[in-house]
Amino acid sequence: MELSERYFTVLDSLPDHVFVFSESGIYVDVYGGAENATGFDCKPFIGQSLFDVAPPEMAHDFLSYITAALETNQTQTVTYKFDKQDMIDLPADVPVPQEIWFEGIIKPLPLVENGERTVVWMAKNITERHYLEQRLKELSEIDELTGVFNRRSFTSTLSHTLLPDHPHQQNHSLLMVDIDRFKLINDSIGHVAGDAIIKHIAFVIQQQLSGTSYIGRIGGEEFAILLSGMTLSEATKFAEQLRVKVKDTPCIAGDYIVKPTISIGVTSINKDDTDIKDILHRADTAMYYSKSKGRDNVSQYSEDIERDNARSIDSINFISKLI
Ligand code: GH3
Ligand code: MG
Ligand code: MG
Repeated sequence: MELSERYFTVLDSLPDHVFVFSESGIYVDVYGGAENATGFDCKPFIGQSLFDVAPPEMAHDFLSYITAALETNQTQTVTYKFDKQDMIDLPADVPVPQEIWFEGIIKPLPLVENGERTVVWMAKNITERHYLEQRLKELSEIDELTGVFNRRSFTSTLSHTLLPDHPHQQNHSLLMVDIDRFKLINDSIGHVAGDAIIKHIAFVIQQQLSGTSYIGRIGGEEFAILLSGMTLSEATKFAEQLRVKVKDTPCIAGDYIVKPTISIGVTSINKDDTDIKDILHRADTAMYYSKSKGRDNVSQYSEDIERDNARSIDSINFISKLI
């Protein structure tokens, strides 16, 4: 295969659309978009102007972003949406969504086309992320210390994810994360340093999350993580990487360098899961199993673990079952 052919094959396999625009707003080239939610092919736009394709106001805005990128010689990042009525050119067999949100990254290109300067425009479909952000704002239930969902908004968002008509009603998994020996950390270097460690762990976890996965602080030093689109084995692999990442990322708290570790429980979310409490319980049970293995561990929920847990409750003489 010729080198140029290889380049085109790679470019057209990109999940998001990549456009090359001239400074007057002509579509010079269109690549990718293989996994775009609309499945819409933008190649027919090549040679047309933004003003032929988009509504006038939108075309005007788009052109101003191109101009800004070229005039400042700096990458522009913009967010925009297409409403149902804007998607004029969708083929009949493509279901028309109410709106699609995009993040556009516009960068000047060192290429001149027909005497005009050009930019490359990468359009990432961020519709789901946008809705999540909206929801986050609406709920205004962000944990003050860490900036992640608090327990209420985490469980509320989780119940939204479980709705039967949610677009990603497929594989999801849930992790429960608990910081190891945190009381000892608090007692030895103080509550304020302890707070810094909780914040640090939340940050490290967030850095590892992508797409529509999200984290909530659901207890003092406990976090739950929804891993969107991940099977149990994928989630377990992710959890293991997360455990190592946390262990390998020391935190400076006051005058100390602390190397906290975490214990993780993993469960998959099943199609017949209707009660969030059950999902959290399974992840929690697996997390406590990780503690019993000596902490700094990852465990998958299983019925064996549940039985082990029941046996250990039986051995506590001041707790007994009602029935
Ligand atoms: P294990 O490894 O079994 O999880 O031990 P642990 O010491 O982490 O667990 P334990 O539940 O005994 O302790 C949790 C501690 O977290 C107790 C509580 O004082 C502390 N804690 C809870 N919320 C906060 C907080 O917001 N800030 C700080 N600094 N500490 C907190
Ligand atoms: Mg705890
Ligand atoms: Mg703990």
